[in-house]
Amino acid sequence: MPKQEVYIAAERTFAYESTSNKPVSKFFGENTFNLKTMRQRLPKEAYEAYISAIERKRKIDIDLANIVANAMKEWAIEKGATHYSHWFQPMTSLTAEKHDSFLEAIGNGEYIERFSGKQLVQGEPDASSFPSGGIRSTFEARGYTVWDPSSPAFIIKGGKGITLCIPSIFLSYNGEALDLKTPLLRSINAINDAALKALRALGNNRPKRVYATLGPEQEYFLIDKEFYYRRFDLVMTGRTLVGMPPTRGQQLEDHYFGSIKERILSFMHEVEEELYLLGIPAKTRHNEVAPSQFEIAPLFEEANLAADHNALVMEILRKVATRNGLVALLHDKPFAGINGSGKHLNWSLSDDLGNNLLNPGKTPHDNIQFLVFLIATVRAVYLHADILRAAIASSANDHRLGANEAPPAIISVFLGDQLTKILTNIENGAVTEATNTAIIDLGISRIPILSRDNTDRNRTSPFAFTGNKFEFRAVGSHQNISFPATVLNTIVAESLDYLAEKIMQNGRNAKQAAMDVLREEIKIIKPILFNGDNYSHQWEEEAAKRGLPNKKTTPASLPDMITDKAIKLFTKYNVLSEIELKARYQVRIERYCKKLDIEAITLYEMISNQILPAAFKYQSTIASSIDDTEEILKDSIDLSPQKEILKEVTSLINQIIILNKKLFEMRTNALAIHDETKRAEYYCNEIRPLMETLRTHCDRLETIVDTDLWPMPKFWEILFIN
Ligand code: ADP
Ligand code: MG
Repeated sequence: MPKQEVYIAAERTFAYESTSNKPVSKFFGENTFNLKTMRQRLPKEAYEAYISAIERKRKIDIDLANIVANAMKEWAIEKGATHYSHWFQPMTSLTAEKHDSFLEAIGNGEYIERFSGKQLVQGEPDASSFPSGGIRSTFEARGYTVWDPSSPAFIIKGGKGITLCIPSIFLSYNGEALDLKTPLLRSINAINDAALKALRALGNNRPKRVYATLGPEQEYFLIDKEFYYRRFDLVMTGRTLVGMPPTRGQQLEDHYFGSIKERILSFMHEVEEELYLLGIPAKTRHNEVAPSQFEIAPLFEEANLAADHNALVMEILRKVATRNGLVALLHDKPFAGINGSGKHLNWSLSDDLGNNLLNPGKTPHDNIQFLVFLIATVRAVYLHADILRAAIASSANDHRLGANEAPPAIISVFLGDQLTKILTNIENGAVTEATNTAIIDLGISRIPILSRDNTDRNRTSPFAFTGNKFEFRAVGSHQNISFPATVLNTIVAESLDYLAEKIMQNGRNAKQAAMDVLREEIKIIKPILFNGDNYSHQWEEEAAKRGLPNKKTTPASLPDMITDKAIKLFTKYNVLSEIELKARYQVRIERYCKKLDIEAITLYEMISNQILPAAFKYQSTIASSIDDTEEILKDSIDLSPQKEILKEVTSLINQIIILNKKLFEMRTNALAIHDETKRAEYYCNEIRPLMETLRTHCDRLETIVDTDLWPMPKFWEILFIN
């Protein structure tokens, strides 16, 4: 339904008033209660005690909490804050906040602003409506939030409201994790312990701490709000349930890295300014492959911070878009027929001396250490490809994985030719002694020269080594990165632990022991290595021969989260108890069902209330036109080509009516299935294909029916007018 005003609205130029003309470095982190601010505002001893607490050397006691809380409140009030909120990440992909004002009565009708250490440390949201996967029954519905001092508090402005947000974990009354951050923090401990153990086994005693680093590249679509609100499906489900791809999609490859439109660039600038105030180091922005698709990538940070920051990035993209008459779509696949949006999760390990442990290094010794960490990661993926796949499973991502735009559901590791060759040489015993010369002869010392350009040319791989980090490319754009990061940290911790033990047991000197151990391991884990085209059909067959899992849908993949193997892994490293793990499975399978249910019923209503009425109108227009024409022209001209159109419209209407009725019935059947796993399978295997068929018929109608009658904006309008 083309509406000139809408197009013109989209052409509005946005006079942008920057909130500051200062260089970014001058206001970076201004709205966070960061270490710099704390140093200025806390007594020296308190500051030092705080630092040892976040370095996990001691706990924060109530006296220290009182001092920090007071300083935080003073600072927040100066920034205009009236409220504070524990800010946490429940088991959805969103963040949660409940605001309380600083106001406190002190008697005689007088009030002051107060914020105590107790309030800082612990909050008790009335959180019985958050998904708990059965951990909390209603009689013990209380969940409470606990301050995470390793991520700085920050100020969020929304319209006139200004709130102090305190990053927190979210626990049940019995101390079970009800959120995504708690297991992430536990996995950060696990990887620290295991990595230090591996370093010590190799004779490296210098680092005192090892932490995971994350750099999530976030893709998103940006569309005009006017179109968004006319699409029932977009508003209800975040994706289009019907719609023909535009005649010009991405085949001309003219959007990727193209020059950025003024309205979009203004939007990006505004987003970045908000991010900088929050101390989020946004670095890269560009047009992505699909029309109206974009990417924002930060500098990498310590995992916990990066996860909080990515959650904020998603929030701010949405918020700033709204303010600019736009909508940011973070769904993994908003439009069929053109690329979906992913989130490349770049992951590495760093020690407290600033060394990236996945950097090949310069000396042979560095190289051995590098190889141990590299092989540990490859081994982790080999052993737990199923869990990694399950970590990113969702109804949205099911539309992407394996659709030849995103990696397939088969998890494999890309190392590039040169590294693969080095591994093969080690495996074949070409390196028997870890002498400096032997390794140099085999080219290991040349690895640093291997620029990222050489190693990172395979865009089809779900898990690629890109020079000095791994890039997990199968994550969906809407997903909170905490869980995939938790899984990565945990599985690599297990492998580092295992390799360290074997190296220590070997008896030879550390370097030689490491080579022996790596040789054995490479033999076992090499089926996971694949440098070829992950989109090809041959790979699917080859992967099956190699025994690699290929779980194409969420209901097929999710149960891999709760196998005995998975339970053993997560409990051994104290990341998730069996109850917590099963709760996560429960929450995610339930969400899958709910999302599909909303999609099914939304499609049903769109068809009944919008598409069929439009089709009937058009049908009647053609019918009366043919009727009138026949009356005037009698038999003087053959009207069968016109009748063909009428026939096709009529037949499509018939089929759509029949299938839509079936959709409603099947949806009712689904609701009656008690077991969530079975219900999810029913949605996946019965309802989803039916929705696809319905879509095909509706899309065919869209190409026939008068555009003026079509009841919703078409893809070409949505994607090309902004
Ligand atoms: P690409 O060409 O794959 O897009 P870039 O070099 O632009 O790769 O980096 C992409 C992302 O990788 C950035 O967000 C960056 O911060 C992140 N990254 C770089 N190094 C690391 C690291 N050591 N750990 C985690 N993330 C990293
Ligand atoms: Mg990338």
